[in-house]
Amino acid sequence: MTKRIIYGPILSRRLGRSLGIDIIKTPDTKKNCNFDCVYCQLGHVPKKITGNTDVKGLVASEEVIESLRSYHKNIEDLDYVTFSGTCEPTLNPALGEMIRGIKEINPHPICVITNSSLVDKETVRENLSETDLVVATLVSGYEETFRAINRPAKGIELENIINGLKEIRKMDKRPILGIEVMLVNANMDFPVNHTEKEIDRLKEVLLEIDPDEIEILTVSRPPAEDYIVPVPENRLKQIAMEFENVFGKERVKLVLKGVKKSRSKMKHGNIEEEVYDLIMRRPCTFKQISASLGINDKELKPIIDRMLSSQSIKENAVEEKKYYKIN
Ligand code: SF4
Repeated sequence: MTKRIIYGPILSRRLGRSLGIDIIKTPDTKKNCNFDCVYCQLGHVPKKITGNTDVKGLVASEEVIESLRSYHKNIEDLDYVTFSGTCEPTLNPALGEMIRGIKEINPHPICVITNSSLVDKETVRENLSETDLVVATLVSGYEETFRAINRPAKGIELENIINGLKEIRKMDKRPILGIEVMLVNANMDFPVNHTEKEIDRLKEVLLEIDPDEIEILTVSRPPAEDYIVPVPENRLKQIAMEFENVFGKERVKLVLKGVKKSRSKMKHGNIEEEVYDLIMRRPCTFKQISASLGINDKELKPIIDRMLSSQSIKENAVEEKKYYKIN
């Protein structure tokens, strides 16, 4: 099975019901990122991208619009159309043009999920100015911690990212800016980002950026590195409260495990392809697949069995939980 440009709709706690768009077309899920995050659910990035010319398989704007126009399923009742998937969407220079085109044929708000690596580039900020919501990652206010956790490609520096995020906030025509703070813990000596010192610095930096929303979360799927583990829930709640005291309750969201309940029964085309598409983008447990796609257990079980016996997917046990990932 090959990777599709449009996938979903899927349910997530952060964005509700959203249709995904993946704008780099490669069957290899791990090659299109300029970060190699220790928490990445897609595993290692063997060769980090260092610039736009490095990116293979850029999808053209017309192809995205055409794929969306001919998407076979019911795409009403969506919360967002989201650029994310298995690549960093801002690496595609046609992102702004795509957003403009999608707005002409789709009434739903558009979200871009970015690792923030390129927000210091004016062209990237111009592309982002077309969207309704940007969810940008920021793991630390310290360069060393940022480098240890995100492991960026050469030339990407935290100070430039912070300045780029501040610029987005200042743009006349701008999207809602959400900062995603991914907190990690480790079962060995590692510069984790949930200590008092780290949180104090993050608060300082976030005050400078002044985002509209701050999302606090931790790893919930098998990470690229075995030594990375989730931050305990009580610590997350404590940190969320500290952020609320500074930024106000309405701007801070604590994202805990699980997905929102489906509002309506989803319509499906080829369920097996949809399950594969979902697992390709994020390893999932049986329950997570069923909740994300709105499929009941009885329907899902034979699909998973078939995919396991054809070896298109495999099992991966992490902390007593069984995840499915592509083979
Ligand atoms: S988590 Fe996102 S930014 Fe980090 S390596 Fe994976 S795909 Fe890239």
